Amino acid sequence: MNKEKLIEIRRELHQIPELGFREYKTQEYLLKTIAEMNLPNIQVTRWKTGLFAFVEGLNPKQTIGYRTDIDGLPIVEETGLPFSSQHQENMHACGHDIHMTIALGALYEVASNPVDDNILFIFQPAEEGPGGAEPIMNSETFKQWKLDKIFALHIAPELPVGTVSSRAGILFANTSELFIDFKGKGGHAAYPHLTKDMIVTASTFVTQLQQIISRKIDPLDSGVITIGKMTAGTVQNIIAEKARLEGTIRTLQPETMTVIKSELERFIEGFQLSYDCEIAVDYGAMYYQVYNESNCVNQFQEIINSTDLTYIEANAAMTGEDFGYFLKEIPGFMFWLGVDSEYGLHHSKLNPDEEAIIAGVKAVTETIRRID
Ligand SMILES: [Zn+2]
Ligand SMILES: [Zn+2]
Repeated sequence: MNKEKLIEIRRELHQIPELGFREYKTQEYLLKTIAEMNLPNIQVTRWKTGLFAFVEGLNPKQTIGYRTDIDGLPIVEETGLPFSSQHQENMHACGHDIHMTIALGALYEVASNPVDDNILFIFQPAEEGPGGAEPIMNSETFKQWKLDKIFALHIAPELPVGTVSSRAGILFANTSELFIDFKGKGGHAAYPHLTKDMIVTASTFVTQLQQIISRKIDPLDSGVITIGKMTAGTVQNIIAEKARLEGTIRTLQPETMTVIKSELERFIEGFQLSYDCEIAVDYGAMYYQVYNESNCVNQFQEIINSTDLTYIEANAAMTGEDFGYFLKEIPGFMFWLGVDSEYGLHHSKLNPDEEAIIAGVKAVTETIRRID
């Protein structure tokens, strides 16, 4: 597929961002685009709002999976581009439009110029939430293909076009959402002794919470607890009966996530006693770490070094990706693709350089052809 066609596809997808498990127009668009390619030996299967495209190999020794995510974010676009989102409230602000375009480009290359191995292209819904990878892994549809390897990419705004970046071992952290609800007793602002003030309780909780990181985690290991939102109360002269904290936990090791959660629960027990209130915790969506298998990454690096693309060794990051669920069961890796955008991921002005699509198709196609 030529560059103009790929850019056209990307711009069309960019205009129809949809949230997790509501990717109806996106799914239709993908099905239509794949059908128009008129490819032999390809079998397309819908799965919820995503789909699978299986390409049979000429002489298969293995089945390789390649995954793209397909969902957008609840962000109002502010790029001012002529092909901006037509869905007022949503935007492809994490580059999943670029990811899908690269997958379609690679699908075209691999199916029109067949390779030895079987390839399964996975168009996965709901990466941003509530998570599509784990339900795919558990589905009977997916299990039938028995993948030997799997890989995926994510755009990297801070890297130049023409570069890719990865590392053996951990690439993305274990993440968990965190919601904590406090319930006490409201009342008149002038009679605090007759109430159980949840603004005082929740704010004390927030300031003490970081001690879990500083006193319970090995300093050579790493963890983050961030409270990003705090809501409480009704008006200035009523003592708040309820408070809610919303945040996230991130760790470089799965065991550390368990430690933080159990310490957090002990904290909560203590607070319930001290402040005579009820506290409920909900962890929401959890993503397993992205852990790259070293043999796959070494091969990938060699493959990239034989092209005109540049390989850069990556650092681990505290960001999360639900691709980790695939890597928990199937050996493989994820890599960053440079797209050189002034604004970062999840920013309303994210504007990836479309030249990166060509680099992405090349990196993915060459890897599929040569990895063993
Ligand atoms: Zn994202
Ligand atoms: Zn993303």
